[in-house]
Amino acid sequence: MDMPTKSAESLDLFVNARQQFEQALTWIESIKVGIIDYLISPKRTLHVRFPVNMDDESIRTFHGFRVLHNRVRGPGKGGIRYHPDVCEAEVTALAAFMTWKTAVVDIPFGGGKGGIVCNPKELSRGELRRITRRFVAELGDNIGPHTDIPAPDVYTDSQTMAWIYDTFDLMHPGENNLAVVTGKPLEIGGSVGRDEATARGSLYASEQLLKRGAVPGLKALDGACVAVQGYGNAGSVAARLFHEVGARIVAVSDSRGGIRNDAGLDPVQVLAHKEKTGSVVGFEGASKISNEELLTCDCDILIPAALECQVRQDNAANVKAKLIVEAANGPLTTAADKVLQEKGVIVLPDIVANAGGVVVSYFEWVQNLENQQWDLEKVDRKLRKKMTRAVDDTVDRWAALNERHKEGFNGNSVGPTLRDAALVTAIERIATVVLQRDIWP
Ligand code: NAD
Repeated sequence: MDMPTKSAESLDLFVNARQQFEQALTWIESIKVGIIDYLISPKRTLHVRFPVNMDDESIRTFHGFRVLHNRVRGPGKGGIRYHPDVCEAEVTALAAFMTWKTAVVDIPFGGGKGGIVCNPKELSRGELRRITRRFVAELGDNIGPHTDIPAPDVYTDSQTMAWIYDTFDLMHPGENNLAVVTGKPLEIGGSVGRDEATARGSLYASEQLLKRGAVPGLKALDGACVAVQGYGNAGSVAARLFHEVGARIVAVSDSRGGIRNDAGLDPVQVLAHKEKTGSVVGFEGASKISNEELLTCDCDILIPAALECQVRQDNAANVKAKLIVEAANGPLTTAADKVLQEKGVIVLPDIVANAGGVVVSYFEWVQNLENQQWDLEKVDRKLRKKMTRAVDDTVDRWAALNERHKEGFNGNSVGPTLRDAALVTAIERIATVVLQRDIWP
């Protein structure tokens, strides 16, 4: 991972999540003080350590996590990530983002997240299968269709979800267990549209944001210059979908570096190159750039779609984009948020921008519970409706908070961001349900 050299800010993702939450609280008119700690803290954190037989007949011990952040609005929901840098703070923050995301797009879930510390690039398919199955066995009934429902995230995919489903199903024979996990292959209860849902949601959200006139100097995606960091599920599909509506993709990157062509890259050909060679780097007709250069290159829209804490105090001032669409979770630090706000860069926050994935996961869950199969037209129509509504709610709330700011609310020295607005909506929805359900006993 690219690490900062000059900045002393915290790159602990949960510290950043907490700062975002506390910042949003300053815009809330009234909240029961006693529930604030409950709203930010994880409800439950599981650590599991388990042995796995490796291909060379050695045994390795792996460390996995599953954090259930909050489930007052419904079962926990959130991906499982395989990455060498996975740690408790990261998983906790990602779980908190899920709590807020499911609230802001108004689906009946809470927030969860999981991860295993491992490097999938150095593991065989057989090793990944054994790691996944043993992890699910270790989690036992801490996951389930009505308790906590995993999904794909960085370096996990529909095959990983199939192994999770199969293992859980073997442990619970005689029941319809399809809804224990989403992002499954189509043949075993996956939903059409799930593989593209995160990026498609980012597209619909960006279109609506521009339609609402929220980004000065940028009226439409048609003709806009776009740079995308990360070329996996979220990034590569976003590049293709934004290109399809007329945007020019001027730079993309993955963990090995980036490429740039001001005349525009063909995202489909770039993906074919990545599939053949393992990286976008080396694509014909493009010049090589670093991930750092990608983040600060000349473009209208920057889509960070890789890992967290990529735009920070030390590089935020150099960002040239007018709009940042957070396809990744937590790609901006709170310090970067401040710098970007001063520069007038609009940030469509992760809890809205990448919510398309969990929205279609919700559709998959509903289809599984009802033994239904929806067609793509229905999934896309419902996804667009959810994303448009979430953006409208966020922009409307932003306008209302700006009015509050003009009246000197709370003595806040700077105005609200879209992130503040989305979080205020989420926190108020969750707090309302906490009090409606009542504190028991
Ligand atoms: P993925 O594993 O499919 O792709 C990750 C991509 O990031 C790869 O191309 C990888 O090479 C690249 N990458 C890794 N380290 C990098 C670095 N230091 N610099 C540049 N690129 C780097 O993962 P994904 O599912 O696309 O997830 C990407 C982000 O989107 C994550 O933050 C994830 O939490 C978020 N997200 C994903 C989904 C989903 O449905 N997949 C939903 C919501 C949010």
